Amino acid sequence: MRNFSYAQATSRADAIALLQQPETMSIAGGTELLNWKRIGIVEPARVVDITGIPDMEGVEALPNGGVRIGALTKLNDVAQHALIRDAYPVFSQAILKAASAQIRNLATIGGNPLQRVRCAYFRAEEPTPCNKRVAGSGCSAVAGIHDKHAIFGWTEDCVAVHPADPPVALAALDAAYVIENAKGVRRVPVQDIHVMPSENPAWHNILGNGDLITAIEIGAAATTSAYLKIRERESFEYATVSAAVALDLDGDVIRRARIALGSVAMRPWRLNATEQQLVGQRIGSSEAVAAVDAGFVDARPLSSNAYKITIARNATLRAIELAARAA
Ligand SMILES: Cc1cc2nc3c(=O)[nH]c(=O)nc-3n(C[C@H](O)[C@H](O)[C@H](O)COP(=O)(O)OP(=O)(O)OC[C@H]3O[C@@H](n4cnc5c(N)ncnc54)[C@H](O)[C@@H]3O)c2cc1C
Ligand code: SF4
Repeated sequence: MRNFSYAQATSRADAIALLQQPETMSIAGGTELLNWKRIGIVEPARVVDITGIPDMEGVEALPNGGVRIGALTKLNDVAQHALIRDAYPVFSQAILKAASAQIRNLATIGGNPLQRVRCAYFRAEEPTPCNKRVAGSGCSAVAGIHDKHAIFGWTEDCVAVHPADPPVALAALDAAYVIENAKGVRRVPVQDIHVMPSENPAWHNILGNGDLITAIEIGAAATTSAYLKIRERESFEYATVSAAVALDLDGDVIRRARIALGSVAMRPWRLNATEQQLVGQRIGSSEAVAAVDAGFVDARPLSSNAYKITIARNATLRAIELAARAA
């Protein structure tokens, strides 16, 4: 492991200035970064600890009815906050199904979307062709082990999925990351922070040197919402597929639906066709089932993961039912 220098940022401006230096990475909870260093995925010359920055932790109500969450807030603190638990159950549930209680006490909500793919070739300790490890080296998974990989939006250059849970719920809530750098502040819709393989198979996200996620903003809550995570064991396991649903209802008639799937693509995947066709349909009707099926017309399985389409479709139907039942 390469030696690195360590600095503690005292303010957002301090962190942004330090992070503009070459070969420099920030560290928050460290639950991902330290694993990457151990495996040799990253070898920064400098690490900037951002955990001491004031004003980047906590949950507060916004005047428009939404909430703002500081990027340094620990996953468990977000999930258990009354404002989140009561108004955005889909987000609270997604967080509580991520990792383990111990990791959630350390990991931050701003670091979570920046975790990298779980593809075994990417995480291998021995060199293996992988465009995300070494740009241009190829993709071992496309003709190799890929049963947990993408069913939407992949290319031959990378078929991995983004594995996080909380961003899937945030995508269904139309949330945005607040990102600061030396030029100012910008708000980026949650799913747009991730880079699809067609844009650049070597990249995970759009953050550059000096970019700091300072907060997450969510708008007014939906009538009801729910998160369903399908995984091989019920605890401490990444999703095979997950479904986040936020519904506005009038009785059992859907007025507005927002649905995002997790672990099916390199970003949370909104089912736009399904959302449009669900409007005006009754929960549980054959029209609602047909609307869900419409979202999978573009699904494209790899040679050994067609089962994920069936699971994702059924998880979507079940998550809609769970949200309706909780209304
Ligand atoms: C065993 C294990 C199981 C897990 N299971 C799940 C799971 O089921 N679901 C799930 O969603 N996640 C899971 N995770 C991932 C976990 O949630 C993430 O590791 C965690 O959220 C990352 O947050 P952190 O604060 O520790 O980030 P760090 O490790 O400190 O940083 C991660 C990356 O984000 C950057 N970064 C951190 N904060 C900021 C910021 N504010 N602005 C800009 N850059 C920043 C760092 O530079 C680094 O590149 C698991 C992790 C482990 C180790
Ligand atoms: S799927 Fe992506 S991460 Fe996995 S080997 Fe291919 S390029 Fe690497």
